[in-house]
Amino acid sequence: MNYEVIIIGGGPAGMSAALVLGRSRIKTLVLNTENPRNGVTTHSHGFLTQDGKHPSEIFKVAKQQLSKYTSVTYKKEKAVYVKGKNNNFSVGVQHNTYSAKRVIVATGHKDNITEIGIEGLSEVYGKSVYPCPFCDGFEMADKKLAVFGDALMAPMFSKTISHWSKNVIVFTNGEKVKDKELIHNLNKNGIQIIDKKIKKLLSIEGQLKGVELIDDSVIERDGGFLPDTKSTESTDFAKKMNISIEIGHFGMELYKVDDNKETEIKGFYIIGDARIGWSGVASSVSEGSEVAAIITHQIIGENWK
Ligand SMILES: Cc1cc2nc3c(=O)[nH]c(=O)nc-3n(C[C@H](O)[C@H](O)[C@H](O)COP(=O)(O)OP(=O)(O)OC[C@H]3O[C@@H](n4cnc5c(N)ncnc54)[C@H](O)[C@@H]3O)c2cc1C
Repeated sequence: MNYEVIIIGGGPAGMSAALVLGRSRIKTLVLNTENPRNGVTTHSHGFLTQDGKHPSEIFKVAKQQLSKYTSVTYKKEKAVYVKGKNNNFSVGVQHNTYSAKRVIVATGHKDNITEIGIEGLSEVYGKSVYPCPFCDGFEMADKKLAVFGDALMAPMFSKTISHWSKNVIVFTNGEKVKDKELIHNLNKNGIQIIDKKIKKLLSIEGQLKGVELIDDSVIERDGGFLPDTKSTESTDFAKKMNISIEIGHFGMELYKVDDNKETEIKGFYIIGDARIGWSGVASSVSEGSEVAAIITHQIIGENWK
């Protein structure tokens, strides 16, 4: 075996696992393409001591702090396949193969904003239109906000968003909200629904200015939120290993792991967004730290005579 552990993905989840494995002096390889999900955003929020920093700044410090742990090798390389089972894995990169007893998949999710089909949305995504109110609601508080989404999810999500601003309009882009009670409820709470088709979003340097509708009218907005970013897994490693899926909060699919974040394949772990679809920076860091401590305990047990 080249390594005890190979971590695929070096976002908050993977780098946190690497840090704790490094501190446990475990021979670890991190493979990372350095393209994290929140790379599009201007500031990362809600992670203690790093609130308001750019994601790249957090990553830079993580990489620098990791460099002192000599048992950890970091490579800016893309993993292209994972093979194996029962503490015997090989991970392929373009011109090489590495082997390890354990593999942690921390490759995250990617958002597919163009699939939403709203012209101009990609330009404002992460700059003034966001997926998560806990990440950016504070900065958007009391502004004129839009919620973009289908006739089911957008009205539901607008209830949450209305906690941060009382000026919220739901844009369903041509879909009719059929539930009369829901419409009544939203209106009662000051939320308007516009179901006309959107022509395009108007923005300047990522700052949403307005929503232009099919009839050429423009509704002024300062920013907004999306309940669904059409996100997909960044890699198919877990899928190809046939890891079971279960249904979590809000009907979201997630990979089935035990309390150790270990899948039904011994030595194969999934953490962060790769496991759950959306975990946020703090939870991803927590999962990375947790899985590294567990792996350390497992290795101590295996080496104990
Ligand atoms: C616009 C936006 C704003 C956000 N704002 C916040 C915020 O303010 N606060 C917050 O807590 N959360 C925020 N998030 C969510 C946060 O980005 C994610 O929950 C978090 O990054 C998940 O961490 P992760 O390590 O699981 O995945 P990621 O951060 O996505 O990292 C995955 C890593 O794996 C690498 N990778 C992928 N495939 C491979 C491969 N084949 N081989 C090698 N490496 C690979 C990628 O390059 C990447 O570096 C935001 C997300 C978005 C989209």
